[in-house]
Amino acid sequence: MSTVQAPAPDPLDGGRLLARLKDLARFTDVPGEMTRLSLSPAHKAAAGEVARWFAGAGMAVHLDATGAVVGRYEGGTPGMPPLILGSHIDTVRNAGIFDGNLGVVVALAVVERLHADGTRLPFPIEVVAFADEEGVRFPSTLTSSRALAGRFDPATLDDRDADGISRRAALEAFGADPAAIAACSRAGRALGYVEAHIEQGPVLEALGLPLGIVTAIAGATRAVVDVRGQAGHSGTLPMEMRQDALTGAAEMILAAEARAKGETGLVATVGTLAIPGAAVNVVPGTVRFSLDVRAPDDGQRLRAFADITARIRDIAAARGLQARLDVTYEAAAAPCDPHFQAALSHAAERLGLPAHRLPSGAGHDGLSLSGAMPIVMLFVRSTNGSHNPREHAEAADIGLAAQVLHGFVTAFDPAG
Ligand SMILES: [Zn+2]
Repeated sequence: MSTVQAPAPDPLDGGRLLARLKDLARFTDVPGEMTRLSLSPAHKAAAGEVARWFAGAGMAVHLDATGAVVGRYEGGTPGMPPLILGSHIDTVRNAGIFDGNLGVVVALAVVERLHADGTRLPFPIEVVAFADEEGVRFPSTLTSSRALAGRFDPATLDDRDADGISRRAALEAFGADPAAIAACSRAGRALGYVEAHIEQGPVLEALGLPLGIVTAIAGATRAVVDVRGQAGHSGTLPMEMRQDALTGAAEMILAAEARAKGETGLVATVGTLAIPGAAVNVVPGTVRFSLDVRAPDDGQRLRAFADITARIRDIAAARGLQARLDVTYEAAAAPCDPHFQAALSHAAERLGLPAHRLPSGAGHDGLSLSGAMPIVMLFVRSTNGSHNPREHAEAADIGLAAQVLHGFVTAFDPAG
């Protein structure tokens, strides 16, 4: 008697990876939706499941001091630094199942395939499921990747969430040891970091391409603009005598839009606007709005921000208004390593895929790792943006990402 056995599914199969993402989505803080805030009970349960999956792929697993799950697939040559793959498993509230989780599942699949084939590369591979990418729960964010880059700020241990729980207490409840965070650093002691992630934007879908190679994670400047004029009665104040803060702000917002339009990679957004004391019969005397300028190139961003600032001052002067601009956040762009980009391109081309390059407008863990090691990202075509339950990536595209990452890793030359 012989039994017929179905062949084991390829670890890189997209259908299998999509099923795994759906499986991982059962760990949620809010039943019926995907909400897995950093260091929450659902995050802890998901981290436990991910750790079991990592162990099943032949990796030595530990929970690091920031709450990240780290799996290590040993290399054949002793003493070589690791190549790090991964993404994050925390989510925003009412998220989709792909943002972050996809990169962890894809990285795991690469190791599962190496393990199934009995392949041992010269260097170790570490797969990291970062714990704090979305920045929803605490005021600070990217703490897992900052620790890996040797840039963790111990003051953020005292950050508190909306319930008054400190990050330190949340880490301890999670089973992590905040006292050991400094020892997480891999700065200068890793071959690099590669992350697969859904695009979160419409570019690849519009081009009809399954994958894209990221050139840089955009830097950002954020500011609050306070515009002051003179409040007055909407019926009695003649048009030519007005110092209307809102019409001035409107002109400033359009100027920001005009400056950013038509320049590849540059975006400028006014996302909030407040009119204190607003009323239907009052000419607005004060308006406050936010400004968010991003670009993959720091010079491009700084030039645009300076131009927009100058336009705001000119418009204010012409209208008899006062405009005050306070920069609230500034982050440099994180360029992706040119050799890593080329190696990802070759891996894609070997599969007959076009290697389209594009910047990432959204921030990622690579932002904090940049400078400490070479980084690159592989974007997967997605629909309906991200940070909502409708975000989606096709199984076939996820499978292609896993194949490209597997090709990248197996062809990787640690000597550069
Ligand atoms: Zn993400």
